Amino acid sequence: MEVNEMAAEECKAVLEHASLGRLGCSYENQPYVVPIHFAYDGGYLYVFSTSGQKVKWMRANPKVCVQTDEAQNQSEWISVIVNGQYEELPGPQYTAERKHASSLLAKRSHWWLSALGERQMRVGDKLIEPLFFRIRIHSMSGLRFTDEKERRG
Ligand SMILES: Cc1cc2nc3c(=O)[nH]c(=O)nc-3n(C[C@H](O)[C@H](O)[C@H](O)COP(=O)(O)OP(=O)(O)OC[C@H]3O[C@@H](n4cnc5c(N)ncnc54)[C@H](O)[C@@H]3O)c2cc1C
Repeated sequence: MEVNEMAAEECKAVLEHASLGRLGCSYENQPYVVPIHFAYDGGYLYVFSTSGQKVKWMRANPKVCVQTDEAQNQSEWISVIVNGQYEELPGPQYTAERKHASSLLAKRSHWWLSALGERQMRVGDKLIEPLFFRIRIHSMSGLRFTDEKERRG
C-alpha cells in the first residue's frame, strides 16, 4: 500500500481534466462544504454559481478550499486540494473573463448550467441570480494512493 505526494505539475494535470469538486468555505468558525463544478485555467478555478449562502460567506471570508478526486477503485485513487482566494467577476470590467469562464465551463458542466436555468425559470426566484467567480490558487497538494496487493486481487 503506497500513498505518494504528487508534484505540482501532476496536480495541475488533474485539475485540467477534473470538473467536479467540493468547495469549502467558513464563516464565524462554521465550515460549509458544497459540491461545485469548476474549470481550471491559468492559476484559477472558475465557477458558475447561484448566489446563496456560499457566496455570502465567501464575500465575508474569501479564504476557500477546493478538493477533487478520481478513484479508479478502492485500491487506486488520486486527490488534489487547492487553497485560494475567492474573487467575484462582476460588471463590465470582467466581461471578457466571464466569457472565458463560460466557454471553459460549458465544455465540462453543461448539465449544471441547464439545471440552474431550469431552477430559475421554475422558481422564478429573483434571489437566485447566477454569477461567476474564480478562485485564485495560492497553494495545492495532491496524494496518489495505490494498493498493489488489492489491484492484483
Ligand atoms: C454534482 C453537483 C454539482 C454542482 N455544481 C454547482 C456549481 O457549479 N455551482 C453552484 O453554484 N452550485 C452547484 N451545485 C449546487 C451546490 O452544491 C449548492 O447546492 C448550491 O450552489 C446552493 O448553495 P448555496 O450555498 O447558495 O445554498 P443556499 O441555496 O443558500 O442554501 C441554503 C441551505 O441549503 C442547504 N444546501 C445548499 N446546498 C446543498 C447541497 N448541495 N447539499 C445539501 N444541502 C445543501 C444548506 O444547509 C444551506 O445552508 C452542484 C450540486 C451538485 C450535486
